[in-house]
Amino acid sequence: MLQCPECTATIEVSQDTRVSEVVECAGCGCELEVVAKDPIVLALAPEIEEDWGE
Ligand SMILES: [Zn+2]
Repeated sequence: MLQCPECTATIEVSQDTRVSEVVECAGCGCELEVVAKDPIVLALAPEIEEDWGE
């Protein structure tokens, strides 16, 4: 089991998760990127700035 670095909620990551895959925390909704496997390491995904100039 992994923990969200933001809210410490438990995050389930499937064993066939690939590096650079992004999972969403069910606790706080932040996006976490898989940065390593064996063991799986999660890091906060960089926020993508969507500047579409509405
Ligand atoms: Zn969280």
